[in-house]
Amino acid sequence: MEALSERINSLPASATLAMAAKARELKSQGIDVIGLSLGEPDFNTPEFIKEAAIQAVNDNYNSYSPVDGYADLKEAVCEKFKRDNGLNYTPAQVVVSTGAKQSIANVCMVLLNPGDDVLLPAPYWVSYSAIVTLAEANPIVVPTGIEQNFKITPEQLEAAITPKTKLIMFNSPNNPSGTVYTEAEYRALAAVLEKHPSIYILSDEIYEHINYGEKAFSLAAIPSLYDRTITVNGLAKAFAMTGWRIGYIGAPEWIARACNKMQGQITSGTNCIAQRAAITALKAPVDKIQYMIDEFKNRRSLIIDLLRNINGFQVNEPDGAFYVFPDVSSFFGKTFQGQTIQNATDFALFLLEKAHVATVTGDAFGDPNCIRISYAASQEQIKEALQRIAKVLH
Ligand code: GLU
Repeated sequence: MEALSERINSLPASATLAMAAKARELKSQGIDVIGLSLGEPDFNTPEFIKEAAIQAVNDNYNSYSPVDGYADLKEAVCEKFKRDNGLNYTPAQVVVSTGAKQSIANVCMVLLNPGDDVLLPAPYWVSYSAIVTLAEANPIVVPTGIEQNFKITPEQLEAAITPKTKLIMFNSPNNPSGTVYTEAEYRALAAVLEKHPSIYILSDEIYEHINYGEKAFSLAAIPSLYDRTITVNGLAKAFAMTGWRIGYIGAPEWIARACNKMQGQITSGTNCIAQRAAITALKAPVDKIQYMIDEFKNRRSLIIDLLRNINGFQVNEPDGAFYVFPDVSSFFGKTFQGQTIQNATDFALFLLEKAHVATVTGDAFGDPNCIRISYAASQEQIKEALQRIAKVLH
């Protein structure tokens, strides 16, 4: 549409949401699509959290909340940061938002100027580059690839930094690769960042609890980075609360104040019922959600085994999140069922059309050799999906 702004016309639609919408549409036409595109736990929100929300409704929580969140929720966030991450934040350093996505958007809007560069080690979550572009800054993709387990090296980081670099975005456990940086790996990257004190760091830790190896490490726990790191987290993934939309940051106070101001002009405080329930969720011991993490771990083993049995998929073993990100480049240039696969997007569309399995092209995450498969689905669905994929590629 001619009348639309250049801003929206140049913005790509979210590939994860677009694929989920496409799968939903096919389903509504009666086609039995297995949706492995969206990163959304298939569990119900735990009962004790639902009860807290019901209580909040009955207690008449119906008014505007403070823009940056209820005081006792911000206290609970601080306690969580201390308990799980060894991070000291005060409530004045916390802003609660409508999902971690809004938290990230707030940070980009308040820190970036037109022309600033933002380093995105790839693969990165699909909306990072779009949000950076919305903030009129430049996403600078630093490729990694499956052979380095999708992790950026200190040498690559050093080489990518220029005087225009304002921000770098890390995400561990990673969406889409499932890769988790060890403390030693993060410390080696921090040693590079220490030489460049004007660069800010966004550490997206939304998959923190969905982690099958050693505990995920928070970049802000490195004292030299604390004053320029924004730690992002939320409730969607670990507590099966995607639709409740609760994200939050811990950040230097001046950045938190700016995010509060930004949010106050755009959305105000997030849903008050969800905020009350979030207090209960954050205060609960992590073992209350362990059953979901255990089940994700079983599904990870299942999907890796099944994928490795299909010729052509190159698979790393993800340590966290609920995605596998196989390299499918060996299929490029080959023809299946009369359809030639040129790239990962063709491959994902082929799987949707012929196998009725929804995945997401790696292009959307800055890695054109891969596709993302979410295993936040039942074991039966995973088995059926992989059988279908094996069949159409036979
Ligand atoms: N973060 C999830 C995903 O990557 C949810 C969808 C989205 O917001 O992109 O699938």
